[in-house]
Amino acid sequence: MENELTGLQVYKFGGASVKDAAAILNLCRIVRDFGLSGPLLIVVSAMGKTTNALEEIYDLAYHGRDYSAQWAALVAYHQRAVLDISNQQLPAETDVDVVSVELNDILAELSTALASLERDLTMGYDKGYDQIVSYGERLSVALVSEALALTFSWGRVRDIAAAGLIKTNENWREAQVDWLATEKAINSAVHHLIGSGIDIIITQGFIGGTDTNHYTTLGREGSDYSAAIFAYCLRAESVTIWKDVPGLLNADPKIFPDTVLYPEISYQETIEMAFYGASVIHPKTLKPLADRHIPLRVKSFLDPAAPGTLIHDCQHPPLVPAFIRKGGQCLLSFESKDFAFISEENLEVIFGALAQARLKINLMQNSAISFSVCTDFSEMRVQRLLALLQGQFRVQYNSALTLFTIKHYDTASLERLTAGRELLLEQRTRSTFQFLVRE
Ligand code: ASP
Ligand code: MG
Repeated sequence: MENELTGLQVYKFGGASVKDAAAILNLCRIVRDFGLSGPLLIVVSAMGKTTNALEEIYDLAYHGRDYSAQWAALVAYHQRAVLDISNQQLPAETDVDVVSVELNDILAELSTALASLERDLTMGYDKGYDQIVSYGERLSVALVSEALALTFSWGRVRDIAAAGLIKTNENWREAQVDWLATEKAINSAVHHLIGSGIDIIITQGFIGGTDTNHYTTLGREGSDYSAAIFAYCLRAESVTIWKDVPGLLNADPKIFPDTVLYPEISYQETIEMAFYGASVIHPKTLKPLADRHIPLRVKSFLDPAAPGTLIHDCQHPPLVPAFIRKGGQCLLSFESKDFAFISEENLEVIFGALAQARLKINLMQNSAISFSVCTDFSEMRVQRLLALLQGQFRVQYNSALTLFTIKHYDTASLERLTAGRELLLEQRTRSTFQFLVRE
């Protein structure tokens, strides 16, 4: 069994790399030119900004508002891509309707799911979210597998449903993986396909499923994590994440000029950068890969021959400062109502409530009578926290903040980022400097 999978590679293509027909056909070329030294498993995200669009549609539907304009745009966007792919890949006499049957089926199913949601809200927001927003990846896999089959033939290409393979609990919108069950399901499905001559397997990123056959999602931008889950379970030879940047950079080129590429970097460094909010890789991606020593490449789908960044077990010289910006933050501070010190007992209550409200701490600090945390802002979750704690604490918060982190900071890098800014909170260790400012 093991031998069949020798040399298995995992490729992950994010939203930008499947955003339209041209991008999808570029993906097919990358697979042809770089991906076929052995079996290949491809994980794809929803096309372009589809997940955002679905979030909006879901939210409108859930609140009983009109979403027809957004729906029409979503349908047109996907149909346009099918049409463009077909026009470029198929002989002129082929009936495009045949090609888009699967896409239209999925759209019809989604439309029914949205309509039934309007009638029945007993599911709860987060569970309903996963049932609807997961359609983005299902649509993109239908399209991309179509394009791959047109390029390589259906005899070699097969799509598989991630929801039946990545087994999770019911922690909606950030489901946790049941590793043993997942490893078993993935191995059995993939060995079976490869044993029957399929060498290009494609599946959805971002989504998993429960024992009760409900969809779950792994957290926004979670497709990288999906790729790592498949790679871990299949003991893949390597994972490549194809992006619209040349590799792992020391800063986001959209925000900072003069960025530097890391040609090689350790798992440890990358985990920390992802944790602080470097948007290049989902933070959960690295651990499964590091556990099984699977190298991760980050490469540009616009320049696929360029080496990109190799992330693996390695030693490297000290790195240049890395600048990481995490927007959408909120600063919460808690004071006990009787001006008592913030004690361990108080902290236990605060941490418990943060966990219950599902707010994750990005930074924290305490003084004698107050305790402050910086978290990602979510109106709903913050309100929930307030409801839990307001009896015991005076809670204040500011939203619309940005958290900056400089790893391997030096005087010049510190000066460059903080000059002229009011720092609402700052924290410094030997290697890392973090501060919070208004957006
Ligand atoms: N489509 C999902 C998102 O946009 C997952 C991903 O792209 O990784 O969050
Ligand atoms: Mg994405």
